[in-house]
Formats: sequence, C-alpha cells, structure tokens
Amino acid sequence: MLKVESLWHYYSRGEEQVAAIQGLSLGISPGEFVVVLGHNGSGKSTLAKHFNALLLPSKGKITVNGLDTADEENLWNIRQQVGMVFQNPDNQLVATVVEEEVAFGPENIGLPPTQIYQRIDEALSMVGMNEYRNYAPHLLSGGQKQRVAIAGIIAMRPKVLVLDEPTAMLDPQGRREVMDTVLKLNQQEGLTVVHITHFMEEALHADRVVVMEQGRVAMQGKPMEVFLQVERLKELSLDVPQMVHLAHLLRQEGLEVPQQIMTVEQMEQWLVNY
Ligand code: ADP
Ligand code: MG
Repeated sequence: MLKVESLWHYYSRGEEQVAAIQGLSLGISPGEFVVVLGHNGSGKSTLAKHFNALLLPSKGKITVNGLDTADEENLWNIRQQVGMVFQNPDNQLVATVVEEEVAFGPENIGLPPTQIYQRIDEALSMVGMNEYRNYAPHLLSGGQKQRVAIAGIIAMRPKVLVLDEPTAMLDPQGRREVMDTVLKLNQQEGLTVVHITHFMEEALHADRVVVMEQGRVAMQGKPMEVFLQVERLKELSLDVPQMVHLAHLLRQEGLEVPQQIMTVEQMEQWLVNY
C-alpha cells in the first residue's frame, strides 16, 4: 500500500541542510495497522507528510498504491487515498456545524447532495458521532473533535489513514475514544493505518511497531518483540508500556512473568492465578 525506498529528506535551515530522513526504507501492506514511535526530532512527522505528498523526496522514492508521489499527475489521486489527521483538532476543523465539517470533502469533489448526505451519515456513524451532527464543533471535547476530523477524512473513502500524534492534546478519555475509533476503522473497514504516537500503550494493538531514530528505522516488529527490548528502547529515550515495565521489574525480582504480558488485563489475570 505504501512503499518507501531509500528516502532522504533535507530541510534548509539558513545555510544549513538538515537531513530529517536518512535513507529510510519501509513497506506497509493493505489493511496493516502500523504504529510509529520515536523521540522528538526523529523524523516521524516528516515521514508522515511524505505519505500524501505534502513533502516530496529529496532523494529516493515513495509510492502509494503504486503511484509515485513525485509525479504531479498523481497528486489528486494520492491525496484522496491517504487521509491525514494531525495533533491539534482545533486547527483541522473549519465549519460551524459538525455535519458541514464532514460534508466539506465530498462537496469539494462535486458529489450530488444525496450522496453527500449518505457519506455524512456513514462517516459519523463509523466514528460514533452521529448524534452530534448538528453541534458546533467548539462545543465538543477534544476526543470528539478528533473523531469529527477523522469522519471528515473517512467521508472521502480513503484507503490509508495517517495520524500524526492525534491523541497528544487529549485527556485519557479522549485518547481512548480516538484509539477505539481508529482500531475499529482498521479491523472492520480494513483501512490501512499509520499511527504516530508517544504513548506506548497505543502501540499494543498494532500489527507492527516501527521505532525511528535520526530519520531511520531503528527497530521494528510485533509490539511484544519490540517492547521486550527494554534496554534498547531506553537507549532510544523511549519508555515501554506500564505493564511491560512492571513485568520486567518482577522478572528482576525472580518472578517468572510470561513474555506475552503487555496489558493491565493480562497482568491481572496472570496475578490472580499466580
Ligand atoms: P518528529 O515528528 O519525530 O518530532 P520531525 O519530522 O518533526 O520529527 O523533525 C525531524 C527533524 O527535522 C528535526 O531535526 C526537526 O528540527 C527538523 N525539521 C522539521 N521540520 C522542519 C522545518 N520545517 N524546517 C527545518 N527543519 C525542520
Ligand atoms: Mg512530530
């Protein structure tokens, strides 16, 4: 679905050239749920912007469903296939009513009103916001706003959803709402998801975790494979999910905690039977 081949990205900072992405290669399959981790400045947002041609490669190549992002003729098609959600919900919402917000994209591509209406219905249902369709977005919580932003993208029927720290400004409740929504879109609608976050717990349900450092892939694998490398993650200035950390400490105390324990529920169950 997404193919990154030896990508380099340079930003100009005065006289200086900053290499934000340094020869990164990565493939993401249709329907995959990939979580991207990495400390500040590791190049996550730069990579995200390459997925829908907001940025173009300085060197190397990116294709979306076989379409080269550097080819201007593909731009419209790529933008339609890859939807982006950013950190600040307030910067993404432009309309005064929720349903107008979701209608914006479909109207822009000239769909007839009946189809627009259908898409609003469908998109708001998918994010669980149908009952708020006549609300003013500024009256919603952060989590609800992000769900509306996601609905606005879903209404365009993309194949890929790229989310750049969509939960960073939300409270725990809002984070849960957004994560549940994204997981559902992946599992039920088969949407390919690239989710960038600094909350380790959000990586637990991913098909694959990709850890970035200095514009390269430092580690990748199933969540368990990545999170069990506690020392390596520390070197990369990253935490591990709470329960992985607890299991690590308990093992140091001599308890034989099974390796697959990553969530509170799993830990609870194991302890109850211990
Ligand atoms: P992350 O999202 O992982 O925090 P970014 O992709 O935002 O990382 O940034 C990667 C590197 O590129 C950092 O060193 C950052 O300072 C630099 N950078 C990002 N955006 C710009 C820009 N517009 N101009 C110059 N340098 C930038
Ligand atoms: Mg970023």
